Amino acid sequence: MSSKKEVKITCPRCDATSPFTIWLSINTADDPELKESVRNQSLFRFTCPYCGVETMIDYGLLYHQPENKLMVHYAVTPENEQEVVSMLTDPEKNAPFRSLFDAHYVIRVVRSRNQMLEKLAIFDANYDDRLIELYKRDLEQAYKAEHPDAVAPQILLFNTPENEQMFQIIDGNETKGVVPLNTSYYYLLLQRHGKEMRELFEENPIVNQDWASDFLLTDAFVVPPKSNNTFEQIN
Ligand SMILES: [Zn+2]
Repeated sequence: MSSKKEVKITCPRCDATSPFTIWLSINTADDPELKESVRNQSLFRFTCPYCGVETMIDYGLLYHQPENKLMVHYAVTPENEQEVVSMLTDPEKNAPFRSLFDAHYVIRVVRSRNQMLEKLAIFDANYDDRLIELYKRDLEQAYKAEHPDAVAPQILLFNTPENEQMFQIIDGNETKGVVPLNTSYYYLLLQRHGKEMRELFEENPIVNQDWASDFLLTDAFVVPPKSNNTFEQIN
């Protein structure tokens, strides 16, 4: 079931106060029209009824798409993130989620609206967000090699209206480039890491660039070293 509450927003232009609906949680099986309202961000757009100015209102919510066994929780504060992650991962607290884990639900916790929209774009296009994070890590390294003065590039995947997957490279609050997803590279990453991925981190709700770094450290540990035999055969 979706749940919402009414709040009062003061217009930044004319100072008038008007009501605005904030969604605490969304269930797309109950309210299918909200799927699009999240993706086009109209759910976060406040239009002042007095002067017409539009303001984006940032608020956290739980997005639940049961038909695709998908849950994305957008935590606006680190405290909320910690609380939700502990509810999901602490064996003493996560019993209510057991049935979802058993049903192979994808459950993610994110820290910004952009990250939430990116997760939805990834799952809408039927990609694995863990592989996308590994892909982004490689893209970031390539970008940094070409731009030694890069500040802190952020890369986000999005779907074009033609349903093509593109990576947007943002650096210093500016879009520096757009790179199409190369499916051959994606499948290469799948071949390289798919098996370890299945065995590790299945229930980790945070999948971001830190996750990708941690995964590669563990992955290096899991992959057996090449034996001398193989080495001789190759030569
Ligand atoms: Zn106004």
